[in-house]
Amino acid sequence: MMRILGSCFCVFCFAVVVFAGPGAVRCGKLVDVRSGNMLVDQVVVFDEKGIITATGAASQLLPAGVTPVDLSESTCLPGLIDVHTHITMEPYMSGYEGLGVSYTREAIYGAKNAAQTLRAGFTTIRNVGAGGFSDVALRDGINAGDVPGPRMFVSGPALGITGGHCDNNLLPFEFHYTEEGVADGPWAARAKVREVVKYGADLIKVCASGGVLSKGDQPGTAQYTLEELTAIAQEAHKLGRKVAAHAHGTQSIKDAIRAGIDSVEHSSLIDDEGIELAKQHGTYLVFDIYNDDFIVNKGEKTGLLPESIEKEKKLGRLQRENFRRAFQSGAKIAFGTDAGVYPHGDNAKQFSKMVEWGMKPLDAIRAATLSAADLIGQPDKVGSLEPGHYADLIAVSGDPLSDVKVLESVSFVMKGGTVIRNDSPSK
Ligand SMILES: [Zn+2]
Repeated sequence: MMRILGSCFCVFCFAVVVFAGPGAVRCGKLVDVRSGNMLVDQVVVFDEKGIITATGAASQLLPAGVTPVDLSESTCLPGLIDVHTHITMEPYMSGYEGLGVSYTREAIYGAKNAAQTLRAGFTTIRNVGAGGFSDVALRDGINAGDVPGPRMFVSGPALGITGGHCDNNLLPFEFHYTEEGVADGPWAARAKVREVVKYGADLIKVCASGGVLSKGDQPGTAQYTLEELTAIAQEAHKLGRKVAAHAHGTQSIKDAIRAGIDSVEHSSLIDDEGIELAKQHGTYLVFDIYNDDFIVNKGEKTGLLPESIEKEKKLGRLQRENFRRAFQSGAKIAFGTDAGVYPHGDNAKQFSKMVEWGMKPLDAIRAATLSAADLIGQPDKVGSLEPGHYADLIAVSGDPLSDVKVLESVSFVMKGGTVIRNDSPSK
């Protein structure tokens, strides 16, 4: 039993197929991300709630009375996960033009970007930083079925020091502007954690070091102290929330790990001691190693500050080298891209960078499935195609285990048993 719901959203028109009962997808090939094996002629069966009930060989498992979606010419994978997005942000918004964008306008951008991201095969995202809790509103709108988008785990405003990367330093003194996530000192930072949790944050984002796109600071410089980071991590964990720390700088990376923070974002200038600490503490490292290309090549056009482009030129290659070193040393790595710094929907372009810099395609795919699911605290719900998980499934032509670039052209996306797009060839 299927019915087609036509819904028009922004510039995109979707034909959404809703399963009114149990359903199934038949895959010519399927990447088993846990074993690393490529399985052939598989079926994934799910119930009316969009939860997987069984997977296995099509010859044995196909339930009576169910006509599966035919993906027999395609390769299936679990829906992908990006743990570092700015879904309500557009590339031009980091420069002065961004000052004219309201939080409500950001939320509308978010609705457009969420649809693009989902259609690109990313069925789950973690959003790290959004003004006005626009990401909370977007998450809730998606969960209510008002707009299409991935499953979202959101931080609301990022915590940061006065004048730091997560403050806004574009305006002079007389405007008296401070970003809403600014909090100085351990107790003010604890209060800010409580505040963002109050207004709907699933996790805490904190800016530990300086950054690339902010005015007047340096990525390598520490901003929050170890004492402040420890207070933030303790308060967040007490309230059942994980913490993601923006940290480019060597010292801030170590401070974040020692503070008990769950993931280090960017990780650009991590050294051997930092890698060892991450391994000891089980901290995930997230390296956004695609967007360097976009910032350096397109940053001027999108209105980035000249200092931002200069900072990226110094940092990009080091970050890629350190990504390779961290991976080869056995640190835990999750797939996060900084989408929003580059256009949303291009998230999968990072896979080939990860392979270029030392990973096998399967490692990169695991970073965006099993590892990302573990980092966001959802290992039993997303990141693999197993009973009890959401029926979040994508398909591509070709073999992503030999050519990871095929993930840039996803032909089929299903989220929770609902088909979002299907451009796959069928027999
Ligand atoms: Zn970011």
